[in-house]
Amino acid sequence: MKDNGETCFIRVKKYKHIILLLLFGAIIWFAKSSAGERFAEVFSEKETSEEVVVVIDAGHGGVDPGKVGSSGTQEKEINLQIAFKLAERLKNDGIQVIMTREADKGLYRETAQNKKREDMEERIRLITKAEPVCVISIHQNSFPDESCKGAQMFYYQGSEQSKRLAEMLQKTFVETLQDGNKRQAKANSEYYLLRKTTCPIVIAECGFLSNPTEEALLVTGEYQDKVAEALYQGFVQWWTERKVGNLDEDRDC
Ligand SMILES: [Zn+2]
Repeated sequence: MKDNGETCFIRVKKYKHIILLLLFGAIIWFAKSSAGERFAEVFSEKETSEEVVVVIDAGHGGVDPGKVGSSGTQEKEINLQIAFKLAERLKNDGIQVIMTREADKGLYRETAQNKKREDMEERIRLITKAEPVCVISIHQNSFPDESCKGAQMFYYQGSEQSKRLAEMLQKTFVETLQDGNKRQAKANSEYYLLRKTTCPIVIAECGFLSNPTEEALLVTGEYQDKVAEALYQGFVQWWTERKVGNLDEDRDC
């Protein structure tokens, strides 16, 4: 018996690498199978709210930096960082998010004669194709007077739903950032994106890069989280009101 035990021990020692490999494989298989189940669960949850599509448009990108702050911050970067944070919050609620860009790229071909025009046209094409419940276009502001600060929402003149969304967002910015912002949501009839989009859309100017204090805040992840939270809360309040009021017939701008 002793001999058999020793032989067995020697065999275990000899094949310990193989045994360890098999054990490791079993652990991986188990982890994968439970992750797979979780993925299926999340996917089916999402299917139930698949009809709720929101387009998040991170303004500018590529050759177009947008506004440039007093210490060199480029608007396109801040826009994209806030866009990702907002997308994450909406996706957690099962909302289908379509981003017009997910990298520092404009929506134009390198060979395009007029890159800015092609970029804007492509954004409109993506929005039209997505048929979202609304579009939130993220931007940062700038003004020669560097004391100007505070977020401001813009909507297309005459679009009641865009106006309502803009007002909700303006309100949640004041509540979330608690910065004493007295600005009001403002109508605009000239911005290309507002004119060409046929669903509720708001251009969210989240702050002034020309204001050194606001610029210093806007580059931090912590402040960007608050901005994304304000946008998220504003959207949720608007969407809840819409659902309660059954305003589907009023969907156009
Ligand atoms: Zn901009």
